[in-house]
Amino acid sequence: MGCNDLWLVTELPEGAPDRTGQGLLSYGARLSKLLDSSWRALVFSPLGLETRQMFADYGVPEVTILKNAERYLDTPQILGAMLAGFVAEQNGGIIAFAHNDLGCTLAPLLAARLDAALVTEVNALSRNDQGIQLSRRVMGRRIDEARIWHQRGFLLITVPVNALSPVSLHTDAKTSLQINEYISPAEAELAESATKCSVIVERIPSDPQTVDLTDADVIFCAGKGCDNADFEQLRELCRLLGTSLGVTRPVYDLGWADFDRMVGRTGRCVKPRLYVTFGVSGSMHHVGGIQDAQHIVAINNDAKAPIFPNADQGFVADVKEILPRLLERVRTATGGK
Ligand SMILES: Cc1cc2nc3c(=O)[nH]c(=O)nc-3n(C[C@H](O)[C@H](O)[C@H](O)COP(=O)(O)OP(=O)(O)OC[C@H]3O[C@@H](n4cnc5c(N)ncnc54)[C@H](O)[C@@H]3O)c2cc1C
Repeated sequence: MGCNDLWLVTELPEGAPDRTGQGLLSYGARLSKLLDSSWRALVFSPLGLETRQMFADYGVPEVTILKNAERYLDTPQILGAMLAGFVAEQNGGIIAFAHNDLGCTLAPLLAARLDAALVTEVNALSRNDQGIQLSRRVMGRRIDEARIWHQRGFLLITVPVNALSPVSLHTDAKTSLQINEYISPAEAELAESATKCSVIVERIPSDPQTVDLTDADVIFCAGKGCDNADFEQLRELCRLLGTSLGVTRPVYDLGWADFDRMVGRTGRCVKPRLYVTFGVSGSMHHVGGIQDAQHIVAINNDAKAPIFPNADQGFVADVKEILPRLLERVRTATGGK
């Protein structure tokens, strides 16, 4: 690996990269073109056939599997030490992580062990006469900070998850994927040191009712078109389906929900997989906070409501008719639990 090389540390949560992992691969493909560098993925568990195909579809030329690393996913300190052992055997280059729990844990561990440069939440990267220029937002995102890395040794970067799009732009003919295994010579010694490390003993999924709305997967949003009875039905629907409840500003003003449940420019800017609105008009203040939602469904009894041009699917309907029927079906399907 020369200073030009790029490694993507890719997680395989269910045996394959999830949206974030796919986004990182897509990012790597683009970055390697921009920097004219070679690139590879580094993973912590073996690849099944479908996963191999997925890597090939993203145009990944090479994957290195850190053998037995999956045993240490709950002991990030050991995982970091193993990873650092592997990286230290290379000559230098860029190692990229998603800015998620694992990336935020491993990147600083590696930086300390390798005495390497670390830049977190990189939102742009380019090459110039002096080296690699990186930019990131600081001071509560009010200031863009530019840095230069002079391409000596290693540079560790983390990339914000919302900047990682899983869309693959790889168009070349099928890539032939090379797979290597790396066996850490220090594994036994590292495993012995486990008693000195903190170990993750439990992972509890977040409660959709209290999760930060910016992290919510599915949000049902109540607008002023809902009266109190509709709102209570929507709340029950959310509970039964395990979705998160959001509100518009007038609903927040009524005191039916806390400020952290308000969606929009003043409230939370959200990016769920699915966003369903019930009696929301679609004012610019509200719509400004849902631009990054992947799929928007709107229910409103006014066909001219501005939410409709902003939605992927729209239903001109009365929430008073829709909500009880929806709730009835969900109660039946879930047994009301
Ligand atoms: C500086 C500033 C910042 C703001 N920030 C935010 C913000 O962050 N978030 C936010 O949400 N708002 C914000 N607002 C307020 C915003 O401008 C709108 O007033 C608000 O978004 C409208 O909320 P709404 O859609 O629930 O209500 P309305 O605009 O009153 O719309 C209600 C909708 O429900 C429909 N409806 C009525 N009855 C039914 C029924 N039975 N079935 C189906 N549909 C029905 C109506 O057709 C209507 O379209 C801000 C305003 C300002 C001035």
